Amino acid sequence: MTDPLDRELLDLARTLDAADPLRSHLDAFADAPGVTAYLDGNSLGRPLRDIPEKLAAFVREDWGTRLIRSWNEQWMALPMELGDRIGRVALGAGAGQTVVADSTSVLIYKLMRAAATADPTRTELVIEAGNFPTDRFLAEGVAAETGLTLRWLEPDPVAGVTVADVAAVVSERTALVSLSHVDYRSGALADMPGITSVTHEAGALMMWDLCHSAGVVPMQLDDWGVDLAVGCTYKYLNGGPGSPAFAYLRRGLHGVLRQPIQGWWSAADIFAMGPEYVPSGDIRQLLSGTPPVTSMLAMQGMLDLIEGSTIESVRAKSRSLTDLAVRAYDAVLAPLGVRLLSPRDAELRGGHVTIGHADFRDVTRKLWAEGIIPDFRFPDGIRLGLSPLSTSHVETITGVLAVRDALESGDF
Ligand SMILES: *Cc1c(COP(=O)(O)O)cnc(C)c1O
Repeated sequence: MTDPLDRELLDLARTLDAADPLRSHLDAFADAPGVTAYLDGNSLGRPLRDIPEKLAAFVREDWGTRLIRSWNEQWMALPMELGDRIGRVALGAGAGQTVVADSTSVLIYKLMRAAATADPTRTELVIEAGNFPTDRFLAEGVAAETGLTLRWLEPDPVAGVTVADVAAVVSERTALVSLSHVDYRSGALADMPGITSVTHEAGALMMWDLCHSAGVVPMQLDDWGVDLAVGCTYKYLNGGPGSPAFAYLRRGLHGVLRQPIQGWWSAADIFAMGPEYVPSGDIRQLLSGTPPVTSMLAMQGMLDLIEGSTIESVRAKSRSLTDLAVRAYDAVLAPLGVRLLSPRDAELRGGHVTIGHADFRDVTRKLWAEGIIPDFRFPDGIRLGLSPLSTSHVETITGVLAVRDALESGDF
């Protein structure tokens, strides 16, 4: 027998699903037998249903039949074409400023290293102590390589970094400020235009990590004057495990900044095979070597879906899902001593909601075995990752109620 409170939450979720203008997209994703709630689309997006057929056709035709001719026919241009599409659909970036390549970590290194030494009179790199490990580790490496000093921001862990936090540390010494748009732990959404603007007032460059916002939170990189940005395609862009990352470099910096891994794909003439390196003057300068074409397939279908829906309506659904998760948290998890580790206001939040409890590591292990898949973050956080096109309101409530049941049973 269902508890009246559970029934009320599930009824609300059903009503919201019935009114959801994007609900038809739920069916576009492959079935995962045995999974009743997938709440980890912020870490690994689900595959679209037609991926097996698309991959098979790629092997049969583009690779199998056209063979090496496909490089000229389509693959050479793919990093730039796909970059332009991501820019248009998700980033507010005009054509010719975004490429798809490498991994997020490698692209962060390339851009950070390029920006670090752009102005030799500037000696500091501003980063955040709570940022994703790879971002921090790369900054430490770039600082060691260039002699720059790291200035660490230590913002409130739930609210995330603010304009005032950044304004307090930037100066004529700052070379670069590098931050995440959406905090990977709390989901806090940084004020991208505000922070970019105070960074520019100090004459420094601004770089954003978009891993947890690309494909779920709209942004206007061009209008907000962002200098550099890097993001993932296997999270909200559903590119599949290890799909390559993307990098944005504002047009005004082309030919000015120079990235350090200057392989042949970044040269002015790839096939000149000349004695010396001449960098390409356009966005291709961010590439290094042969792009991972097979891994660029899956994200294309997702970009079609987001473009067809518009990123604004994806954001509206995302807010609806995270609001519902917070509401369910208040109703059934707060009374059990679970902490809310994300901002309450949807305006200040990205696509996931994080909750904390000392038993969450064990709870997560039990739930995964039962086909309820949230994301565990050390030491005691569960992230409810609610990828808008593939997640329903009922699925969200199912997940929250399962966390409650596991905690109440004490059996994990
Ligand atoms: C997921 C994520 C990464 C991942 O980097 P990879 O090189 O793809 O492993 C980097 N930074 C942030 C903020 C992330 O959320």
